[in-house]
Amino acid sequence: MLSSQEYKDLEKKYYMQVVNRMPPVLIKGKGTIVTDTDGNDYLDFTAGWAVLNLGHSHESVTKAVSEQAGKIMQMSNLFYTIPQLSLAKTIVDNSDVDKVFFCNSGAEANEGASKLARKWGKLKLNGAYEIITTLNSFHGRTQAMMAATGQPHYQNNWKPLMPGFVNVEYNNLDEIKNAYNKNTCAVLIEPVQGEGGVNIPDEGYLKSVQEFCRSKNILFMLDEVQTGMGRLGTLFGYQSFDGVEPDVMTLAKALGSGAPLGAFCTKDFCSVLEPGDHGSTFGGNALTTSAGAAAADYMVKNNIPTMARNSGIYMREKLTNLKETVDQITEIRGMGLLIGVEMQQEISAKIVGEAVNKGLLINAVRPNMIRFMPPLNVSKEEIDQAVSILESIYKTL
Ligand SMILES: *Cc1c(COP(=O)(O)O)cnc(C)c1O
Repeated sequence: MLSSQEYKDLEKKYYMQVVNRMPPVLIKGKGTIVTDTDGNDYLDFTAGWAVLNLGHSHESVTKAVSEQAGKIMQMSNLFYTIPQLSLAKTIVDNSDVDKVFFCNSGAEANEGASKLARKWGKLKLNGAYEIITTLNSFHGRTQAMMAATGQPHYQNNWKPLMPGFVNVEYNNLDEIKNAYNKNTCAVLIEPVQGEGGVNIPDEGYLKSVQEFCRSKNILFMLDEVQTGMGRLGTLFGYQSFDGVEPDVMTLAKALGSGAPLGAFCTKDFCSVLEPGDHGSTFGGNALTTSAGAAAADYMVKNNIPTMARNSGIYMREKLTNLKETVDQITEIRGMGLLIGVEMQQEISAKIVGEAVNKGLLINAVRPNMIRFMPPLNVSKEEIDQAVSILESIYKTL
């Protein structure tokens, strides 16, 4: 094995420089802990970007993947394979959607949902094609999803943007009503905005958007790429909001528990895609869906979303106590185990850098906000440790 510096040199020389990486070169992970080349352990409160909701190398997932790898990994959707059916059934049995299509990422899931929405518009709304999304949203980085993502810094270098997306203020029904016109075929929003800074909508917002969509016969689509699979304390994020039931829902991140897997799901009444309309070479691949099926099954049987809810309450309580003693902290926001700490100054990069040095991995989601998205089965002791590392950092600012 090379030294960590040598790996960093390789990265600089051979890898496209599109991200600023954190210092550790990581070689393994178990549960909430990851280990670097020098043998240092870190508490991973990023969970591989809200992906490892059961933690690193969860037994149920590694077993399913290694068994499946020895049987059959890939056949294309020209043929029936079994793991995708098992996962599709688990999703449908535990939600309000009726049909599932698997793809490989969140952006692709939203692309698929957008295609479905445009077909809905073509069939039912005289060719309506426009999709209303929100400012500060994040829907992915493909050409269409850059237009859907209402954040200038994901858009400015790539204009002209794909037409057919309108970005309006989040948490504001009137803005959606004003943006609506005869070309509108759908609304696509996150139940809680993740990358936008852990923004939780007011009570009733999602439901009122849903009601507005129903009244206009346009599709109410939820991007659950980050909020799905237990993150908010319910298996799907929308289930944390009374009376909310999307027509279309997209998933990715934690769906494959580390395997690249996304999905868009729909109710039967708007399941308008037909043979030839959509496809994906790897989508629904036996390897990735075996990981997803094992993870989803474990999650449901062991009530992991409830653990997330309780641990989220516990962690927010601890952070709220910390806030009492630290002037720098202005707000604790969160639902389940998607938690943000907002600060007076734009010092999140500094806090994150110091946290790594003390063995805690977190994310600077905004210049003045750090975000926590640990595995959902994180222990109380690990939460205590993380908060105490944070406390030691704030105390020495
Ligand atoms: C991460 C994310 C995406 C994009 O997912 P990729 O797999 O990176 O394409 C889309 N929507 C939301 C809400 C996300 O958090």
